[in-house]
Amino acid sequence: MKTSTLIIAAILYLSSSSEKKITGTISYDKHKYESIEHAHLLIKSGNKTVESIRIDSNGHFQIQRYFTQDLDLFFMAIGGPPTYLVTIRRDSPDSLDLNLTLPVVYKKNIEKVICPKCGKTDRIIPISYGFKEIILTGYTSEDGITYYSSDKGHLYHDGGCMENAFSPQWYCKRDKLEF
Ligand SMILES: [Zn+2]
Repeated sequence: MKTSTLIIAAILYLSSSSEKKITGTISYDKHKYESIEHAHLLIKSGNKTVESIRIDSNGHFQIQRYFTQDLDLFFMAIGGPPTYLVTIRRDSPDSLDLNLTLPVVYKKNIEKVICPKCGKTDRIIPISYGFKEIILTGYTSEDGITYYSSDKGHLYHDGGCMENAFSPQWYCKRDKLEF
């Protein structure tokens, strides 16, 4: 392909997905939780971070980019892993204003947590940080990810040692998503 053809192809590709301007506010109980100063919003495609955006101390953020595919937004504060917030679809309106509240409380269906991404309950396991009170009896590997089993027969996803008030508590094995 000639360079000019490539440029035209690139222009067509970009114009088929318009630039989105997304503003948003993250609210949380300032009396109950630590400050979200220096927190970031991670924009992810699959498990890969494509952009990291600073959230100001009032919880405001702004995203301006082309969405050539659906992208996931994660919240990340100092001293904890990212937690899933929302998926912005490629075909969603070009101008969005999001109001998000932390920590996220997820819906349940007959006591089972519903995955915010696939909407199902069947492949969700709890995340454990530092395995504080769990007696481990074994582990299994699936798709290169290790899961731990406890003496009570439950399966856990290892969240590592760092945890804060906003850290994800659940893991969907289908989406490989921490929420
Ligand atoms: Zn899921």
